[in-house]
Amino acid sequence: MKILAIGRNYVAHIKELNNEIPTDPVIFTKPETALLRNNAAFYYPEFSSDIHYEVEIVLKMCKQGKNISEKFAHKYFEEIGIGIDFTARDIQGKAKKKGLPWAIAKGFDGSAPISHFVPKTGFSDLSNINFSLSLDGKIKQKGNTKLMIYSFNYIIAYISRFITLNKGDLIFTGTPEGVGPVQIGNILEAYIENKKMLQVEIK
Ligand code: MG
Repeated sequence: MKILAIGRNYVAHIKELNNEIPTDPVIFTKPETALLRNNAAFYYPEFSSDIHYEVEIVLKMCKQGKNISEKFAHKYFEEIGIGIDFTARDIQGKAKKKGLPWAIAKGFDGSAPISHFVPKTGFSDLSNINFSLSLDGKIKQKGNTKLMIYSFNYIIAYISRFITLNKGDLIFTGTPEGVGPVQIGNILEAYIENKKMLQVEIK
C-alpha cells in the first residue's frame, strides 16, 4: 500500500503558511513506514526541532483504479478515518526555499498516525464533515470538508491520472488552519464530528 497526501487544500491554512493558492492540487507521498496505528505514541525525532501537527480526513481506497473519472470516484472508497500529517517544518522550510522535495520533511518514521476507519455511509453529506484536533485538551484545529478547495472525488480523479490507486491505499486530504508545533509530553486527540477517533502521545 501507499500513502498519498494533498497539500494546500484549505485556503485559511495556505494563508497561515504564506503559500500561494495552487492552480493544481499539490500531491506528495509518505512511505508505509510513516504509519502509526492503534494510538501508538510518536517519538520526537532528533533531526528536527519543529515538528508540526496537521489533522486531516483520510480516505481508504477499496479497489484499484486508474484514470478514474470524478463522477465515479465515490465508488473507490467506502471508509474514512482521521490522521495527522506530521511535518518537520524546519526541514520542509529549507527544502521549499531551494525548491527541493519534501520526502524527509513529510515521510519520516511515525509521520502518519491514523485512526481506525468507519463507513462513509455513516455520514449524510461527505462534503460537510466537521473534524478537529486538540492538544492537551485544547482545540487547536477545526475544519469542515466543505472548506476544501478540491473535493474527495476530485482528488481521487486527479491522482489516478498519474498514479494507479490500489485497494488499501490511503489519501490524506489536507489540513485546515491552526497547525502548530508539538512538544514531548503533549497529547493530541483527533475527532470526526464529536467522536474521538485518534490519540497520539508525543514521547
Ligand atoms: Mg498536510
